[in-house]
Amino acid sequence: MHIAPIPTLDDETNQIRLLTAEIVAEHIIPNEHFLMRRGDPDTGKRWAELIAMVKERGLWAPHLPEEYGGMGIGFLKLAYMNEILAWSPYSNPIFGILAPNSGNQKILVKYGTPEQKKKWLEPLVAGTMQSCFAMTEPDAPGSDPRSLQTRAVREGDEWVINGHKWFSSNAKRADFAIVMCRTEDASDADVNGRMTQIIVPTDTPGFHYIRSVPVWGQEHGHHGEIIFENCRVPYENRLGREGSGHQAAQDRLGAGRVYHCMNCIGQMWRAFDMMVRRALDREVHGGPLADKQFIQGFIADSYMDIQAARLMTIRCAELMEHGLDARTDISAIKIFVPNAMHRVVDRAIQVHGALGVSSETPLEGMYRGARTLRLADGPDEVHRILIAKNVLKRYRNGESWDFGL
Ligand SMILES: Cc1cc2nc3c(=O)[nH]c(=O)nc-3n(C[C@H](O)[C@H](O)[C@H](O)COP(=O)(O)OP(=O)(O)OC[C@H]3O[C@@H](n4cnc5c(N)ncnc54)[C@H](O)[C@@H]3O)c2cc1C
Repeated sequence: MHIAPIPTLDDETNQIRLLTAEIVAEHIIPNEHFLMRRGDPDTGKRWAELIAMVKERGLWAPHLPEEYGGMGIGFLKLAYMNEILAWSPYSNPIFGILAPNSGNQKILVKYGTPEQKKKWLEPLVAGTMQSCFAMTEPDAPGSDPRSLQTRAVREGDEWVINGHKWFSSNAKRADFAIVMCRTEDASDADVNGRMTQIIVPTDTPGFHYIRSVPVWGQEHGHHGEIIFENCRVPYENRLGREGSGHQAAQDRLGAGRVYHCMNCIGQMWRAFDMMVRRALDREVHGGPLADKQFIQGFIADSYMDIQAARLMTIRCAELMEHGLDARTDISAIKIFVPNAMHRVVDRAIQVHGALGVSSETPLEGMYRGARTLRLADGPDEVHRILIAKNVLKRYRNGESWDFGL
């Protein structure tokens, strides 16, 4: 892993990139085989040492403001940091970023009342509590969040929640869930204003954890199926004002998509690095793989995929940093980048032969991740529709696109 300063970036961003890269390259990647042995006491000790190192160097929880023990860095710096963290699947937890807790922390920072922050955010940051985010439902399409059916009805000082969720990641370990609920039916005027996010402790009577839905043959993501049956929580457990649930979900997902894409790019760099090294080392039919034109094609195509994905994502992040409307570009990167990652990792697997699909390298995990991202957080088709809708709207209004912006 070789990370050099980028001349067009400010010193602070470069410094964060280089400090992050040093820990990832020298302390995390060489220890990956050791870090994956969960439950081993020596492994636990090594995790704790690495976390202490990250904290001591001031790189802990880059997504959080300083008042909650985070780095308090801006959006763009965090995006660049994500690219480097992604070189190893173990970096994020070691740097204090653990989905879905990190997304819930950000929503609590933005929408939580002082009491909610004390009760839920502080323990979540301290690691004494776990959480999940429950939006997707088996009986309604997640691609159309306005159709969600889980209902919360106000009765006096309480909400009464009934509904069925699934794919709530981390649900089995969670102390509380942030649940997307329909709280309003009637108004057609504001279809987005019907949803409210409500904090539900998982030990509340009527919160039934059913099972972990296995994903790619594994259950360790604890993508929980949950039934809410007359589940009562205090009225003050709503996050933000009534009807702000859709906006809160957009806040969570918009910035999150840029971070996911920078994360994909970091993974692509690692897959690319592994592919090139393997091509140089592996002798096949009288010479290194690197001398075969097929393999040279893989290298060239992967290089173009990564650079195109990276430019698109950084451009989108810069629009957001300057407060410009980036919705079309968020959709564009959300389609392009996971697809590019899918192609790059696929080529890297091919060059590694059987080793590529084994669990001896991070490639198979990257492959599953890239495929999953093509449907999670909004499937490709939904984002294609959004791009076309935004472009056509401009033209129908007698304008054209801002070419070059
Ligand atoms: C590993 C994993 C973790 C997840 N974690 C969470 C979590 O923590 N919390 C949570 O709430 N959810 C989570 N999800 C759920 C995820 O966000 C949803 O799967 C996603 O929003 C899609 O919803 P759906 O599965 O209901 O698919 P559907 O909405 O049923 O869509 C199915 C397919 O229909 C097609 N489609 C949809 N709309 C259109 C259209 N207009 N035109 C053409 N085609 C279309 C797309 O190809 C799409 O993939 C997770 C999912 C996975 C796989």
